[in-house]
Amino acid sequence: MLDCVFCNIIQKTIHGSIIFEDDQMVVIQDILPKAPVHLLVLPKKHIASLIDVTAADQALLGAMILKAKQFAEEHHIADSGYKLLFNVGKHGGQTVKHLHLHLLGGKQLAEIE
Ligand code: AMP
Ligand code: ZN
Repeated sequence: MLDCVFCNIIQKTIHGSIIFEDDQMVVIQDILPKAPVHLLVLPKKHIASLIDVTAADQALLGAMILKAKQFAEEHHIADSGYKLLFNVGKHGGQTVKHLHLHLLGGKQLAEIE
């Protein structure tokens, strides 16, 4: 997906602040952080949205959540708490159409409306 910003970061055709990579995912720093810790967990496979996830992606999603949990611990926000967030589609506020899990923490976060 050459027109996908996250695919381009994963393929390193554009710069992204990659802080972790394995065979199935990367973790990057959000370019416009909304909290002191704001990371994005991206599957390497291009999946446009949670809408497009199938049962075949179950292990991948589990691995993404566990990786976010690990980064929360490494950034010392596990005790104070944090949010894991998928924005899905237009009403969900999804702007980048490549599945990503937000890890937000390091301050008191607003309630979700
Ligand atoms: P969402 O609204 O859930 O689609 O969130 C997309 C997120 O991606 C936003 O928090 C953006 O700040 C972030 N973002 C967009 N472009 C980049 C980029 N090139 N590198 C890192 N984060 C990005
Ligand atoms: Zn993509």
